[in-house]
Amino acid sequence: MGGPTDMPIGKHYQPETLAVREGVARSQFNEHSEALYLTSSFVFDSAAQAAARFSGDEDGNVYSRFTNPTVTAFQGRLAALEGAEACVATASGMSAILSLVMALCKAGDHIVASTGLFGATQQLLGNIMGRFGVHTSFVAQTDVAAWEAAMRPETRLFFLETPSNPLTEIADIAALVAVAHARNVIVAVDNCFCTPILQRPLDLGADLVVHSATKFLDGQGRVLGGAVAGSRNLTDEVFKFLRTAGPTLSAFNAWVLLKGMETLKIRMQAQSASALALAHWLEAHPSVERVVYPGLPSHPQHALARRQQSSGGAIVAFTVKGGRTEAWKVVDSCRLLSITANLGDTKTTLTHPASTTHGRITPEQRSAAGITEGLLRIAVGLEAVVDLQDDLERGLSLI
Ligand SMILES: *Cc1c(COP(=O)(O)O)cnc(C)c1O
Repeated sequence: MGGPTDMPIGKHYQPETLAVREGVARSQFNEHSEALYLTSSFVFDSAAQAAARFSGDEDGNVYSRFTNPTVTAFQGRLAALEGAEACVATASGMSAILSLVMALCKAGDHIVASTGLFGATQQLLGNIMGRFGVHTSFVAQTDVAAWEAAMRPETRLFFLETPSNPLTEIADIAALVAVAHARNVIVAVDNCFCTPILQRPLDLGADLVVHSATKFLDGQGRVLGGAVAGSRNLTDEVFKFLRTAGPTLSAFNAWVLLKGMETLKIRMQAQSASALALAHWLEAHPSVERVVYPGLPSHPQHALARRQQSSGGAIVAFTVKGGRTEAWKVVDSCRLLSITANLGDTKTTLTHPASTTHGRITPEQRSAAGITEGLLRIAVGLEAVVDLQDDLERGLSLI
């Protein structure tokens, strides 16, 4: 569905080309830049056309809760980048995950997910969905045997996020897909940290990819958005839920995201290169106990990361020598790095997960997820590495 000239440009193009050219819905004015269709509803030529649009017999826009040309353009662009048949955009990353679970699971179903999931995803699967009879077993991200052992006859979904936040643990997507598909279990991967530029889970056999477009897809910290991409038979179910329940991406946010995605590849490459340089520097720093970054040979799953991702990504986690006091010293000494929980921005951000993003989960869940008091997470942006080092050094030298 969408505008009259939103035909796909073709699968054979490279990602950076698709990111700029795919998903264009030109209006009658033939504008060059993607148009923003700020309208809640669309008019029909006749009663018969209205009926056909509502029944789905005729493609076309109806009402922006479920059809809007700017949102359709975003969906087309992201689907092309992920190598997906179809994509459904949502208001945020969390509403993408909610829509996925509501669309594909029913009371009595069971989910296997990793202990290292994003904090709000853990809350959603671990606390909220349980009230509706959908129960989740949490297992170690890296332990394929544990995923298999957690399966039950009623298991419907594997939900993973790789690399995990903030510890960058790598799940072996292909291995988990083999375990899941042997018993007809759907595999969904939160691909927020890598984006399709660094990792394409569908190529490794996953059924669905979930995004918080809020992060790298926007890339400039402006809007919230999310998406579920994959085979059309599954995304159609997500679409039916979204059409009725309404956790819809706004046209304005879709338009911002379309423009953000045009620079996705060069941002991911530059931010990953800076993250690697910063990780090496931190690893050699006397005040730092440990650095976890998939691009470092010291990462426990460096070899897997190299097979599965085209680079280490922009997120670096490290533990300072000491606990909360020392970690907060580094945070409070920064003048350049932003103290914020967001990530995927051109501006580098610094987070103390134990007291922020992972502050609402129980201490037991925190320690199961490896979130120690000395842990800090950096989401590297586009500033010069030397400036980031100087900023961090101010706090690290106090330890
Ligand atoms: C931020 C984030 C989410 C949630 O996305 P929102 O857009 O904030 O709702 C989900 N997964 C991961 C890995 C995230 O970083």
